[in-house]
Amino acid sequence: MIQIHHLKKTFGRLEVLRGIDLAFDQPGITAVLGPNGSGKSTLLKSILGMVLPDGGQIQFRNKPIDQLGAYRKDISYLPQIARFPENLRVAELIKMIESFRPQVSRSTELIQHFGLESVLQSQLGHLSGGTRQKVNLVLTLMYDTPVIILDEPTAGLDPVALIKLKELIIQARKEGKILLVTTHIMSLVEELADRVVFLLEGRIYFDGKPDSLKERVHEPNLEKAIASLLSGGQLTPLSSNPPSQTRMNGKAIHSILKT
Ligand code: ADP
Ligand code: MG
Repeated sequence: MIQIHHLKKTFGRLEVLRGIDLAFDQPGITAVLGPNGSGKSTLLKSILGMVLPDGGQIQFRNKPIDQLGAYRKDISYLPQIARFPENLRVAELIKMIESFRPQVSRSTELIQHFGLESVLQSQLGHLSGGTRQKVNLVLTLMYDTPVIILDEPTAGLDPVALIKLKELIIQARKEGKILLVTTHIMSLVEELADRVVFLLEGRIYFDGKPDSLKERVHEPNLEKAIASLLSGGQLTPLSSNPPSQTRMNGKAIHSILKT
């Protein structure tokens, strides 16, 4: 469904994505992990065509994405930072978004799911961070699309809302959807992810099952496995063109991380 070849993106002098090769073809949940600033949001926005690459190519259903913006109708996207018109009411915003798309919306079901009935007439500018995030999730998940991209969906959510989000993610997986999710909550990754892609400084250092990541660094829990990756100081990216400095670390580490 999604193929990414040698994707590169530079902001000024900052090389944010340095040759990313990835494919998302199988239904299931992929957690895109990495420290702040490692390029996760830039990667996800590139798939949406919101960030224009400096090199490489992205294909959606075997067609380069720059040819048809229409492919976006098949992707539900939750941006990390959602900006809403502050003086609109929640119900008005949902209605406005629904007026843009002909497909059937399941906003009513999602409003109930997150218990948002009582804030429907509130202005968006008056909502707490967590409630805004729930509205953000309703807007993202109200259409039935084969691909769902969630950039930090857990931000600001209380434990009950987090469970509600998990239920929706699990339901989407059951429906055979492709989900790409970034989050800092490792327990969520541990519980849900079928695949982990670990990014660091714009390169991929691990791509595989969460269990094989844990096994290969001999850490029983994912949080510690990731910490061990970061503190090891001998990481080698999986990309086809590792810089000479990291290549010097040798084949052994490369094979540790490659599944
Ligand atoms: P992550 O989501 O992994 O935290 P991002 O993809 O948001 O990382 O950002 C990666 C790097 O690119 C950061 O250093 C960030 O400051 C920079 N960056 C992202 N977007 C822009 C932009 N539009 N202009 C300039 N720098 C940017
Ligand atoms: Mg981000």
